[in-house]
Amino acid sequence: MFSVPPELQDFQARVRAFARQHIAPVAAVIDESAQYPEEIHRFLVSEGYMRTAAMPESGPLRFLRRAILIEEVAYASAAVSMIPMVNELGCTPIQLFGNPEQKSELLGGVADGSLFASYGLTEPQAGSDVAALACTAEPAGKEWVISGNKSWICNVRQPGFCVVFARSSGGNAREALTAFIVPTDSPGFEVINAEPTLGLRGSPTYNFLLKEVPLTRDGDFSWDLFIERYNANLANDWGNLFTRSVSMIHRYRAGLLANPAAGSELGALIRKALADYREAMDRYAVDEGIEAAWTIIRRANQMVEEGAPWKLAKDPAKAGELDALLGELAVALQHTAFLLFPIMPSKARLVWETLRLSPAIEAGRFPADGALLPPPPSGVALGESQPLFPRIEK
Ligand SMILES: Cc1cc2nc3c(=O)[nH]c(=O)nc-3n(C[C@H](O)[C@H](O)[C@H](O)COP(=O)(O)OP(=O)(O)OC[C@H]3O[C@@H](n4cnc5c(N)ncnc54)[C@H](O)[C@@H]3O)c2cc1C
Repeated sequence: MFSVPPELQDFQARVRAFARQHIAPVAAVIDESAQYPEEIHRFLVSEGYMRTAAMPESGPLRFLRRAILIEEVAYASAAVSMIPMVNELGCTPIQLFGNPEQKSELLGGVADGSLFASYGLTEPQAGSDVAALACTAEPAGKEWVISGNKSWICNVRQPGFCVVFARSSGGNAREALTAFIVPTDSPGFEVINAEPTLGLRGSPTYNFLLKEVPLTRDGDFSWDLFIERYNANLANDWGNLFTRSVSMIHRYRAGLLANPAAGSELGALIRKALADYREAMDRYAVDEGIEAAWTIIRRANQMVEEGAPWKLAKDPAKAGELDALLGELAVALQHTAFLLFPIMPSKARLVWETLRLSPAIEAGRFPADGALLPPPPSGVALGESQPLFPRIEK
């Protein structure tokens, strides 16, 4: 049976008492009057319940804490439960992908009650079918211009921001959606009307128009830049490490690894990468997680240059050295595939399967603290070398 873990039981009891004492007695009044419960919102702020970014736990406990908060408040009033719920919805993309300034200004504003977060996904023709979304974002010089029509969006009458999803370029609907942070007082951001609802009346949901809302572009994007980054990071770094390591194992050792293992230096580097990755991912700092995996890729590529397997292969006295180096490269590739699987699943699976690793990468489990993954098998020929990220020529 499911039960609330001990570390959250006090929290649950505290929210429950708060909701029964301060929210339940006024729930009916809130619904009848259809007034946004400002005083209760202030209470939630003063109790620290709006501090999305400052949750003490990481990982699943963090979500559980939010679920408990919403559940306990909803027991007293469904409308009031929308306050933490919708703010959470609007804050999550910023928490996951925002830059430090956005996090500090916007999440800080929601935590101290001066800002409201909203989430602008739904449109009249795009509810469950998000791919039917029609709101557009057109680049115009240093700005984006957003136009469209959103419906059923909470929190847009209050001062704050809305994470608006819009179609940012032509082509496949799934590839072309981008989220924009739009201040709700932007010129052209026009709330039209509140939806009449049954229940949840204290948490009005609105229809609004985005009439050519201008937004400054916060990053430079161009296909040239994209191709440059792709070639440098993917084709040259990870792609090159994979292709040349596997082809050398085939050329010099008929595809067979002799007792693959990480030496002490590479082993220490991989252990650190595993720990850094885990710590970063627990904070949802995906970029830092990727960087941790990349430390292995960069070091392994250096080892190829320094170890020069093509020279070792010419000297029979260095056969042991060559075996050790090729084995280390295989272990490095294995760990990069394991760490990058959640980010680039098909490429990581290709690396994993080429190394003849089992069980399937999906079943992989993080090694215990300070340990490495069990090494790739020796005595089984690796899969063929193939381009992991073929270079894009301009
Ligand atoms: C109180 C309230 C607050 C809201 N707040 C927000 C908000 O802040 N931000 C926001 O972006 N949106 C908000 N929404 C919108 C909400 O997310 C949408 O209502 C939801 O996405 C469903 O879309 P829809 O209402 O158009 O239903 P539809 O997509 O028309 O679905 C209606 C029914 O058909 C079913 N269905 C749909 N497609 C299929 C299919 N292919 N096969 C089988 N069954 C299907 C669905 O499961 C559902 O039962 C809010 C809605 C409400 C009611």
